[in-house]
Amino acid sequence: MNDKPVDSLKGIGKRKSEDLAKAGIYTFQDLIYYLPKSYEDRRSPTPIASIFGEGRYFVAGKVKNKKFKYMGRKSLLSFDVEDDGGGVLRVVFFNGIYVNNMIHQGDEYSFFGNVSYNGGRIQMVHPEFALVGSREDERGILPVYGDIGRVKGRQIRTLIRQIDSINPLGETEEWLCERVIDKANVCTTSYALRGIHFPREKKEILEGKYRLIFDELLTLETGLLLIRGKFGNRKNGVSISSKHMDEYVKLLPFSLTEDQKKVLREIARDMESSSAMNRLIQGDVGSGKTAIAEVAMYMTAKEGYQSVFMAPTEILARQHYESIGSSFQNLGIRCGLLVSKQSKKLREGILNRLADGEIDVIIGTHALLGDGVKFNKLGLVITDEQHRFGVNQRQILTEKGLNPNVMVMTATPIPRTMAVVVYGDLDISVIKSMPRGRKKIITKIAKNKFERESTYLKVNEELKAGRQGYVISPLIEESDAIDANSALELYEEMSERFSDFNVALLHGRMTTDEKSKVMEAFYEGEVDLLVSTVVIEVGINVPNATVMVIENSERFGLAQLHQLRGRVGRGNFQSYCFLILNSDSEISNQRAEIMEMTSDGFIIAEEDLKLRGPGDILGTRQHGLPNLRFAHLTKHVDVMQNSLMIAKDILEDDPTLNKSKNRQLKERIKRLYGDGINLVL
Ligand code: ADP
Ligand code: MG
Repeated sequence: MNDKPVDSLKGIGKRKSEDLAKAGIYTFQDLIYYLPKSYEDRRSPTPIASIFGEGRYFVAGKVKNKKFKYMGRKSLLSFDVEDDGGGVLRVVFFNGIYVNNMIHQGDEYSFFGNVSYNGGRIQMVHPEFALVGSREDERGILPVYGDIGRVKGRQIRTLIRQIDSINPLGETEEWLCERVIDKANVCTTSYALRGIHFPREKKEILEGKYRLIFDELLTLETGLLLIRGKFGNRKNGVSISSKHMDEYVKLLPFSLTEDQKKVLREIARDMESSSAMNRLIQGDVGSGKTAIAEVAMYMTAKEGYQSVFMAPTEILARQHYESIGSSFQNLGIRCGLLVSKQSKKLREGILNRLADGEIDVIIGTHALLGDGVKFNKLGLVITDEQHRFGVNQRQILTEKGLNPNVMVMTATPIPRTMAVVVYGDLDISVIKSMPRGRKKIITKIAKNKFERESTYLKVNEELKAGRQGYVISPLIEESDAIDANSALELYEEMSERFSDFNVALLHGRMTTDEKSKVMEAFYEGEVDLLVSTVVIEVGINVPNATVMVIENSERFGLAQLHQLRGRVGRGNFQSYCFLILNSDSEISNQRAEIMEMTSDGFIIAEEDLKLRGPGDILGTRQHGLPNLRFAHLTKHVDVMQNSLMIAKDILEDDPTLNKSKNRQLKERIKRLYGDGINLVL
């Protein structure tokens, strides 16, 4: 079996096995699932005469005109390679004493490397080479593995061969039953693994990868459906009448947008129903999700139930506590704050009041997940900026009550077709429109010293008019390696520049206390200009802030720029965002131009995808899903649909995965989701 430890392989000693362990590779099995990053097609040499353009080529031929000469302390080895077709290629090695002794005039060698042009001739510099017919002269489609610490990619190739000679990959046990394999139209595990590591044809690589992606998505989707089974369609949920809804809506200092009203109707219907609510509210930054949450918490409190509101950062939790607390203050709704760095006494007081039902609305961070947090009568669970939390964390909160209503809020846009699969356990509401009176944020790119000066003149104007502003710096401390203006340095510059105003600094290395003091002063308007790192990225709401300068904006991704910019333009004043560009690279220019052009989160997400491919922006992290190794949520939508169909099929036949044929699937789900999934299985 393949559960043998990797250090039983030849060539793997203590230090190398430590490096492998760091990458999570302990057993043969783990190494088998370490896939090649690319392949080299060395099935047969390319005739030299047919080489066209630069690129990586595999050629073979006789060595002629070999020359080795010293130039001062350096040396140069060069020779021609002539193949059967009569083509000639020049090969060059700098300081090639060692190679000079290995390569003999007149013998035939194969070479693999980059072809370039030099004075009208084609040449290879420092190619890989092997004597034709020798063991090193490998032919075929060769997998190329990335290095793992001290274990180099080339060694991994031989390690996998070793494993294959002990337990042939082509005989790997199958974990899915034949019926599923047929229906999903995927290849077997043994075919997949052999095809990925020892492909005979390129098609085997594709089919093999499809299978691994399918396996992973099947595990993900079956897990999501199970969660939905238990959490998505919970009968006997907390039922909340909507009779108090309008009385709170009337108290709001603004009238709701049509989209907000629509979402509220959906929520009211869910909350009244005898099944528990399970709803995702997707709304762009600044679209007014918090007001919706307030209404839902108000209704819940009026019916004698408690609400919990979880935010991803302490700054955000405090902000919500301040603003929600002041809205609820005179309405007899008691609010509490729970974050990790409170004094023991304070914390215990809050926990006791919560357990006794003396707090109606508790707002906080991950601290809310703790075992000690108990409710008297939990009726509503809200998570803000859902993408920062895992599916499990939502479940842990939900388990603290008896089928409470669940509402998750996110500003991360995701195409609807994909959302259905990704958020399989949730109903979805979308807020598209922005509150009336909002003016489009004017976004400008500043590329040189002069434009940067004009930028700060504009900042000065805004501050003089009584507005506030942000200056964002991408780094915490000065670094020589990258020439970013550090937050500290920026802060000093700004303090000098704006000596008539109050300038403050906020960064991630400050203590919680220091941070919240600064934020409070900014909320209160005592601080005019806040120099900050990205710690303010999500959710901060100061409507009087109308100008943002993002230094070194090329360091940020589009999605992040969008989130950052969303901190201004939250009131009725015209707002401005300046992107200072210190790079002239095409991609940073394109990014800045997109920001200038649009403020629609969906468009920005799509453009981001095009620009840098589906990197992190729509990765699993953004959605609180478990980490995937092979599958990608945007690239593999078709595989996802296939696996969703099969997942439904399997659960229909065996709703709790108790049949022995599904034992492995169950284990895989547990492994993928971690401990939280035990709640379900
Ligand atoms: P987000 O969806 O990004 O969480 P918030 O809920 O923080 O947005 O709302 C952003 C700002 O818009 C807040 O200052 C809020 O009071 C205000 N707001 C929300 N809804 C409306 C509305 N219908 N009309 C005017 N302002 C609104
Ligand atoms: Mg928000």
